[in-house]
Amino acid sequence: MLMCRDLAVIASDYIDGELSGRQSLSVKMHLMMCRDCRTFIGNLRATTDLMKGHSSGKLNEAFLQRVDERVAEALRTKTSPNKDK
Ligand SMILES: [Zn+2]
Repeated sequence: MLMCRDLAVIASDYIDGELSGRQSLSVKMHLMMCRDCRTFIGNLRATTDLMKGHSSGKLNEAFLQRVDERVAEALRTKTSPNKDK
């Protein structure tokens, strides 16, 4: 079974549609059960859409940095033991 931490690793590939059918399915199954990850994917998707919408092309480095920090933070809060089983 896919864990929250596994999902965080492949989340951007999932949003970009780059996962295999089977991986994508396990992400979907996880999302059905896990509200935290639904929120996480939702935020990530919104961010991705936002960046894709900026066709002027220049990514805002500081903004990306903040996204990275948010992801790292989300991962840290998921490391509490006995919860993901
Ligand atoms: Zn999860």
